[in-house]
Amino acid sequence: MPELTPKERMAIKRHHMPEQEPEERNKNFKEVNLGYDALLAMQEAERCLRCKKPVCIQGCPVAVKIPDFIAMVAEGRFKEAAAILKEDNALPAVCGRVCPQETQCEQVCVVAKKAEPVAIGYLERFVADWERMNIGIQVPEIKEKTGKKVAVIGGGPSGLSCAGDLIRFGHDVTVFEALHEIGGVLIYGIPEFRLPKEIVKAEVDGLKAMGVKFETNFIVGLTRTIDELLQEYDAVFIGVGAGLPYFLNVPGEHLNGVYSSNEFLTRVNLMKAYDTEHADTPVFDMSGSVVAVFGGGNTAMDAVRTSLRLGAKKAMIIYRRTEAEMPARVEEIKHAKEEGVEFILLAAPIELLGDENGWLRAVKLQKMELGEPDASGRRRPVPIPGAIEEIPVDAVIVAIGNGSNPIISKTTPDLNVNKWGNILVDEATMKTNKKGVFAGGDIVTGGATVILAMGAGRTAAKAIDEYLRNPEVW
Ligand SMILES: Cc1cc2nc3c(=O)[nH]c(=O)nc-3n(C[C@H](O)[C@H](O)[C@H](O)COP(=O)(O)OP(=O)(O)OC[C@H]3O[C@@H](n4cnc5c(N)ncnc54)[C@H](O)[C@@H]3O)c2cc1C
Ligand code: SF4
Repeated sequence: MPELTPKERMAIKRHHMPEQEPEERNKNFKEVNLGYDALLAMQEAERCLRCKKPVCIQGCPVAVKIPDFIAMVAEGRFKEAAAILKEDNALPAVCGRVCPQETQCEQVCVVAKKAEPVAIGYLERFVADWERMNIGIQVPEIKEKTGKKVAVIGGGPSGLSCAGDLIRFGHDVTVFEALHEIGGVLIYGIPEFRLPKEIVKAEVDGLKAMGVKFETNFIVGLTRTIDELLQEYDAVFIGVGAGLPYFLNVPGEHLNGVYSSNEFLTRVNLMKAYDTEHADTPVFDMSGSVVAVFGGGNTAMDAVRTSLRLGAKKAMIIYRRTEAEMPARVEEIKHAKEEGVEFILLAAPIELLGDENGWLRAVKLQKMELGEPDASGRRRPVPIPGAIEEIPVDAVIVAIGNGSNPIISKTTPDLNVNKWGNILVDEATMKTNKKGVFAGGDIVTGGATVILAMGAGRTAAKAIDEYLRNPEVW
C-alpha cells in the first residue's frame, strides 16, 4: 500500500473505543472498555503523522517512543511494538488503561491542533494486551548476577517498576508488601471494571519469572525496620504510597454508613465483589440506597461507580468546585455520567445527620461559588452565606485525598520528611538523606499518578545500580 500523505492521515477520524453499554455495565464489574482489535488498532495507527519532532514523547512522563511503536502497529508488527513500549514502560497494559493521556501525550499530539489526537493510550493498551494474550509477557534480558541485594518496600507501581529494572541489572531483589496481594492501588484501589486484576497479576508473574522475590503480609516498620533491613540488604527503595485517608472533620463523621474511599474500595476489590460466582465474603449491600461520594478525583469516580454496581438506586458526586476543576480523568467523568451518576457541584458537606440508632440519614450541604485561584491554581470555592440545604442519604463515601502513613518515618527517625510526612529526596536520583536508602512514588509526591510513580521507581533503580557499583562516591 502506498504511504499516506499527512493530509490523508489527518482526514482519518479517531477510532472510538468499543465499550459495554452504560445500562448494562453499571450492574456488573466487567471491564467497561473492550479494547481495539488488530484492524482497528492498525487503522488508528495510520493517523499518526510520524512527526520529525514528536512532541508526544515530551508529553509522556517516561518518554515512551510513541511514533516508533505506533509505526510498528500500523505495519501489524505487534511483537516489535511491544518491545519498543517496554523499553520505557514496565506496565503498558496498566498505563494504557489508567494514564491520563488527555493531559499528557495526547494533549500535545500535533493532530490535536485540528482534530482529535491519535489514540495513543488505546494503542498502548492494544499492544500490551496482544503480547499477553498471544505470545505471553516476554521476559527481557537479565544481566549477570552482581551478588548485591536490594529490598523494595511496597508492591505498588513505584516498587514494581524499580524491582523490574533492578533485577534486569543483575541484582537480587525482594519486594516487601504489607498486604497479602501485590499491586498497591492497582489491586486494592482501582476497580476491576477499569483495570482487571488478572492484568496486574500477569505483570507481577512476569517479575516473578525474572527472579524478583515477594514477601507479603510484611509491614516494614512493624515486622522489621528499615535499619534492620539495611543490615541484610545493600540498598533499600521505599515506595509505600500515600494510603492514609483524609477525613472531612465535620460533625457526624462517626455515624454508621460513613466510609473512607480507601476502606470501601479495598474491601470491594480485595474481597472480590466483582467475582459474584466465587466471592464468599459479604461486601457492602447497597441495594436501593442513596449514596453520596465527596470528592472530584479518580478515587471519587471509582467509589461512586462501584456503589452503583453494588445496587445503589441513586449515586451522587458532591464536589465543592465545578467540573472544570475536577482532577479525575475526563473519561472517568464521562463514564460516570453515562452510568447515571448525578453530579452536585459547588457544594460541600458541613454536617452528617444521624437517626436515633446512630445511622446516617442526611447530609447538610453548604453551597459555594468560585473565588480567586488558590495555591493549586484552581479557583477557590467560597461559601455563599445562608445557602445551606439538607439532602437525604443512606451512605456517604469520603474521597478527598490521602496523606502519608507515618509508620516508616516514625520507625526511621533519621529519615528526612516534610511537614506532611512525604520523604524528601534528590529528584535526579531519588536518594534520601540516609545512605543506601532511596524513595519514590506517592510517598514522595503525595497522591499523584501511576506513570509518575513508575517513572520515579525507574529513576531510583538506575541510581541504586550506580550506588551499588560504586557506593563510596555516594
Ligand atoms: C482509587 C484510586 C484510583 C486511582 N486512579 C488512577 C488513575 O486512573 N490513573 C492514575 O494514573 N493514577 C490513579 N490513581 C493514583 C495512583 O494509583 C497512585 O499514584 C499510584 O498507585 C502510586 O504508586 P505507589 O507505588 O507510589 O503507591 P501505591 O500504589 O499506594 O503502593 C504502595 C504499596 O506499599 C504498601 N505499603 C504501604 N506501607 C507499607 C509498609 N510499611 N511496609 C510494606 N508495604 C507497605 C501498600 O500496601 C501498597 O501496596 C488512583 C488512586 C486511587 C486511590
Ligand atoms: S505528536 Fe501525534 S502525530 Fe506526531 S508523532 Fe506523536 S502521536 Fe504521532
